[in-house]
Amino acid sequence: MDGLRNVLADVVGHRFVVDDADVLATRSTDQTGRYRGRAGALVRPGNTAEVAAVLNACRSRGVPVTVQGGRTGLVAGTVPEHDDVLLSTERLTTIGDVDAATGLITVGAGVTLAQVHSAAAAAGLKFGVDIASRDTATIGGMVSTNAGGLHTVRYGNMAEQVLGLEVVLPDGTTVRRSPKVLSDNSGYNLPALWVGSEGTLGVVTAVDLKLRRVPVHRVTTLTGFDRLEDVVDAGRMLRTLDGVDALELLDGRGLELAARRLNAAVPTGRAWYLLAEVSAAHDPMESLAEALERIDPPETPSVGVDGPSSTRLWAARECFAEVVGLFGPPLKFDAALPLDSLAAFAEDAAAVIASRAPEAIPVLFGHIAEGNIHLNVLNCPNADTVYRSVLELVRDHGGNVSSEHGVGSLKRNYLDLALSAEDIATMWAIKRALDPSDYLNRAVMFPDALRH
Ligand SMILES: Cc1cc2nc3c(=O)[nH]c(=O)nc-3n(C[C@H](O)[C@H](O)[C@H](O)COP(=O)(O)OP(=O)(O)OC[C@H]3O[C@@H](n4cnc5c(N)ncnc54)[C@H](O)[C@@H]3O)c2cc1C
Repeated sequence: MDGLRNVLADVVGHRFVVDDADVLATRSTDQTGRYRGRAGALVRPGNTAEVAAVLNACRSRGVPVTVQGGRTGLVAGTVPEHDDVLLSTERLTTIGDVDAATGLITVGAGVTLAQVHSAAAAAGLKFGVDIASRDTATIGGMVSTNAGGLHTVRYGNMAEQVLGLEVVLPDGTTVRRSPKVLSDNSGYNLPALWVGSEGTLGVVTAVDLKLRRVPVHRVTTLTGFDRLEDVVDAGRMLRTLDGVDALELLDGRGLELAARRLNAAVPTGRAWYLLAEVSAAHDPMESLAEALERIDPPETPSVGVDGPSSTRLWAARECFAEVVGLFGPPLKFDAALPLDSLAAFAEDAAAVIASRAPEAIPVLFGHIAEGNIHLNVLNCPNADTVYRSVLELVRDHGGNVSSEHGVGSLKRNYLDLALSAEDIATMWAIKRALDPSDYLNRAVMFPDALRH
C-alpha cells in the first residue's frame, strides 16, 4: 500500500491522498453508522484523466477500489470490505452552462444535487429529481443508484433525466456518450448501462442532465386517513390529476414525532397521512379540491398554497429522516410493492417485527404512487432476526428488495429474492466482461456465492 500511495500521489498530488487512520475510519462507515469497513487510502482525483490513472494504478497492483460520492447511500455501497483504496469524486465539480433551448446541463460527478437545483433555477428552469439528502448527494452517486425521490410520480428516476454521460471503465478507458442531436438510436443505449450500476462497471465522471420548465402554480395538501388501504386508493385517484408532482405516504406515528421535533403545527392524530402536491401552468386548486371531495377523507385536509405554508407541510415529511434516527441507526427497508398488496404487507411486516423484536418500532413512509415504501425499524439492535424475514415477506407479496436505494453491499446476498438466476447471471457476465478481476466496488451488488 505504501508504494501504491506514492504512485497515487504522483497522479493527483500529495494533498489529495490521505492515509490518516481517523479519516479512513470515518470514510469507511456508512451514512447510518451501522456498517463499517476498512480502507488503505483515500484518493481524490481532480479530473477524468486522473480517475483513469488511479484506476490503472490500483488494478495493475490488484488493489480493490471503492467509489465514493456524497456517501449518503443507504445500502452500504461505499463501505470498503477489502482494505480498498477509496476513490472520492468530490473534486469533479465542474458545472457547465445551461443550454436553455434543449434544457441541458453538463455537470461533474461530484456536483451536489442542491448545486444542480441552483444552476437550473438561475436559468429559469428546474431539475426534476429531489431527495432530502440534496446538499450532500452527488450527481454521480445519484446516477449510479438511479435515485428516485419526492417527484418520481411526475419526472421519473435519474434514468429519465440522463441524456448522456462520461465514464471511466475498470480498464481505464474513458467512454463519452453525449447527445449531439435530441433523437439518437445509433447503437446500444450505453448511458443506460451505467445508470443504477452502483460503481460496479466504472466511475461516472460527468453527466448530461435534462432540465424542465417551472410550473407557475403549486398547491400542497396533507390529509389524514385511518386505514392504509384508503391512502393507497386516494393516491391512485390523485395520480390521474394533471400536474401531480408528489404523493408521499407518512406514518401517523412518525408524523407525530416529526411535529414534536419541529415544534410545528402540522395535523396529527390519524394513523396515516398523504402529502400531495400538484403544480401546473394554471391554478390546480379547483381540480385538487374536487378530487379530495370525491375521496372524502375523515377530516379536512391542510392546504398550502404559498411558499411558507407549503414548506411547513414539506418540513414534516423531510423530518422523517431525522426522526427515524432517534433510537440509534434504524434498520432500513426500501421496497416497492404492487399497490394491491401494500397494506397487507405492512400488516404482516408489523406482525413479524412484533414477534421477533417486541421492543422495536416500525415507521413507514414513502412514495406511494410507485408503491415505494421505506420501512424503518427503530430500536431494533438485533437486525438479523428481522431482516431476512421482512425481505421474504416483500417477495411473497410480489415486491422487489430495492426500489430506489440500490443493492449495495447490504442486499447483495438477497438479490435472488428479487431477480431470477438468469438475470443475475447476465448481470455478472457484463460485470466480468468489463471488470474481469472484479476489483471495482467488489463488495457491491453481487452475491458472495458468485464471488467465491
Ligand atoms: C436523508 C436522506 C434522504 C434520502 N432520500 C432518498 C430518496 O428519496 N430517494 C433515493 O433514491 N435515495 C434517497 N437517499 C439515498 C441517497 O441519498 C441516494 O442513494 C443518492 O443517490 C446517493 O448519492 P451519493 O452521492 O451520496 O452516493 P454514495 O452514497 O457516495 O454512493 C452510492 C453508490 O454509488 C457509487 N458511486 C458514487 N458515485 C459514483 C460515481 N461517480 N461513479 C460510479 N459509482 C459511484 C458508490 O460506490 C455506491 O455504490 C436518501 C438518503 C438520505 C441520507
